[in-house]
Amino acid sequence: MLKAGDRDDFTLITPEAEISESSHGGRAKCLQRLVRLGLPVPRTVALSFGAVHEIAEGRGPDTARLLAAFGEAPVISVRPSSEDPDWGGPGAILHIGMNDARRDALAERIGRKAADRLYLRFITTFACEVARLDPEPFEEAIEAADPVAAALAAYLDEADEPFPQNPARQLDEVLRSMARAWEGVSARLLRQARGAPVDAGLGLVVQDMAHGLGPGESGSGRIRTIDPLTGERRVTGLYKRKSMEMRALGLAGERMALAAVPGEASMEATAPAIYGELVGMAELCRARLRDELELKFIVVEDRPLLLDAVRVPRGARANVKIAVALAQDGIITPEEALLRVEPQSLAELLHTQVDPEAERDVILRGIAASPGGATGRLVFTARAAQASASHEIPCILVRRETKPEDIRGMHAAQGIVTERGGMTSHAAVIARGLGLPCIVGAGRVSISVRKKTLVTADGRVFREGDLVTVDGTRGEALCGAVAMLEPALDRDFNTLMGWADAVRDIGIRANADTPDDARMAHMFNAEGIGLCRTEHMFFEPARLNVMREMIFADDETDRQAALERLLPMQRDDFVELFRIMGGAPVCIRLFDPPLHEFLPSDREGMMGLAESLDLPLSDVIRRVESLAEFNPMLGMRGVRLGVTVPEIYDMQVRAIFDATVEASRQAGVAVVPEIMIPLVSARREVELVKSRIDALAAAVRVESGLAFDYRLGVMVETPRAALRAGEIAANAAFLSFGTNDLTQMTYGLSRDDAGRFMGTYVSNGVFHEDPFHTLDQEGVGELLLLGSERARAVRPGVVLSVCGEHGGSPDTVEFCRNAGFDYVSCSPFRVPVARLAAAHLALKAPKGKT
Ligand code: PEP
Ligand code: MG
Repeated sequence: MLKAGDRDDFTLITPEAEISESSHGGRAKCLQRLVRLGLPVPRTVALSFGAVHEIAEGRGPDTARLLAAFGEAPVISVRPSSEDPDWGGPGAILHIGMNDARRDALAERIGRKAADRLYLRFITTFACEVARLDPEPFEEAIEAADPVAAALAAYLDEADEPFPQNPARQLDEVLRSMARAWEGVSARLLRQARGAPVDAGLGLVVQDMAHGLGPGESGSGRIRTIDPLTGERRVTGLYKRKSMEMRALGLAGERMALAAVPGEASMEATAPAIYGELVGMAELCRARLRDELELKFIVVEDRPLLLDAVRVPRGARANVKIAVALAQDGIITPEEALLRVEPQSLAELLHTQVDPEAERDVILRGIAASPGGATGRLVFTARAAQASASHEIPCILVRRETKPEDIRGMHAAQGIVTERGGMTSHAAVIARGLGLPCIVGAGRVSISVRKKTLVTADGRVFREGDLVTVDGTRGEALCGAVAMLEPALDRDFNTLMGWADAVRDIGIRANADTPDDARMAHMFNAEGIGLCRTEHMFFEPARLNVMREMIFADDETDRQAALERLLPMQRDDFVELFRIMGGAPVCIRLFDPPLHEFLPSDREGMMGLAESLDLPLSDVIRRVESLAEFNPMLGMRGVRLGVTVPEIYDMQVRAIFDATVEASRQAGVAVVPEIMIPLVSARREVELVKSRIDALAAAVRVESGLAFDYRLGVMVETPRAALRAGEIAANAAFLSFGTNDLTQMTYGLSRDDAGRFMGTYVSNGVFHEDPFHTLDQEGVGELLLLGSERARAVRPGVVLSVCGEHGGSPDTVEFCRNAGFDYVSCSPFRVPVARLAAAHLALKAPKGKT
């Protein structure tokens, strides 16, 4: 950081010099580490952040004294050295010190052409980067018969003064220009956007280049001990070999790979001894500097010198591999390896991703609701998606919004785009559960299901069957097919996850509704199912019909008959879930949505229903209308259905208990189901449902002769349930905060419609973030704290969790851990992110020391 009045000018980099990342920047510190390892580094001087700031203010250092450190005829380079290389900085300037006299002297040693090339390069860089002259005349000078003379003349012309011949003056100007570039407004904004603090400082390193200009065979290059794309351990890099003869002829160097490539030139084959020496240096750096570095080197008369070392830039996949390999080689600890991987970055490994290098023709943008990439043909209805899948043609389902009846189409699609919706709208929740890429709230497109067209904001028309790519990670859809990167759930990923589980101290479960989801949850090592939304089991066509019969039943007997047909289906689902989870807890939420969600919304669908139920169309229409509500999300749903139509819950509870008996007998271990009541707002609701559940449990115990156990819990999704958590907990062994509905009700903000204005709200700073995406810790969070305190006061052992979509985000995991919750539950694909986030928290703030 900059220190006012800090004026230490410059420091020669020696093993003992006082150089730190926070005063001289990462590059300077890294060079000192190389020096300390005894590696050959040309003489280098570091300028501190304070000194560079002074230069920008017009108080330059004593450059003549600085130059004296580089001997009689200095030729030097200046490179930026900020605290974090990702913050950017001015470009390096090479060959400072070149002038007429030095060119002539050099020509004697390396030939006129070679000396001219170096001089011309410096004049051009100095003119364009330092004196900020128009580059054109200098580009033209290259074509002239005597390019150096032409460039010098151009300089005189453009700058109204001769090209500076004095090396001290050249260096002065270079330092000033680099220091000022760093302090400029655009550079500051750019680095702040990359996470730099407002007062981030810039250091500079001045390095001797004279060696590189000597006679004999030489070259330059970069070496790494990994493949930066995959993270695989192997020597990679580039060598630009430049023999004396090539120099004399003014030829560019010969480019070759470092490690041997069959049939091609390589440094390993051409100069095996130097190659061996360089690999040794690179391995030493890896072991002692504890990271994968890219070493920049020059070769002078068969001797390699290291000019620079920077951390190899890498994607998330390579980062995991590198961290695990470093830990397995004993260079870093597993704990350090965990901390070197950002939890959110794992999303890149879990899904197929659009190749970041691929060309992008963006056709629409929206909220990035579920990560990953997929290409397919456009379809506009769930039915078309299913038809496409049956022909094995990948498709992208585009809807204004999705409804439960679209679920089979969503299963059939490779990606989903909706015009409306936000982070917790139906499409977003389902897509995350299925691991499908999804964009919601793509409000600037117009979709016509009738015409089967999608018209983009710039007027392009896409039709059914057109090929598009969904990039759910970035929230963009692209025209055509785009190159993809496959998921990387390999051994290294699993090793890292194993280390995370060994240190974390909060439970992570998965939200899983179907056996497929449960298998996914199991694969990601979730510690159980934290939320099984049972209604999702009713959307299979065969079941949907029975469900509809139940809804249309005229009397109790008919309703009971329909429910009795649903019962074995539900029981089989639960047996399967218990089996897959192998004794891990399974929390089953009783039926939650309003019944009308199971009925068709258009005339065509109603006709079909009338046919299958053998009823007049008018009866069906009347019935559908009678179930319609002005605010269905605040209407007859959740426990309200359980209280008013208790037979539905009775059927589900019996199915759970029958499955408990069956699964316990099959597996030989006691299954203890967890049953959760949704949308509670009053104690009495819980009492009413509980007494029926208790009675059913007693009946099944007697019938089966098995004294099974079960746990009853309440989903806290209404502000009132949070406020009255004390009395509610008296009848609940666990409380699970459903932060989707709780956010909706706390803000009075529809989770299905908020996408329309969320962008405006966030950009105007009304909300810091979309509260459906990031838990609102101040408001909704206060309800969580209040509810948990009140519940614990009455029932100290009550188990607490969050099962809304927020559960998988690192900040929610942190909030829940700090509040002493027992676990979070999230979509299976977010389980690894949550596991790693929990590990980070345990490592950074061990419990009891917070
Ligand atoms: C919730 O409301 O947070 C929740 C998990 O339930 P759903 O999303 O099914 O309403
Ligand atoms: Mg809910």
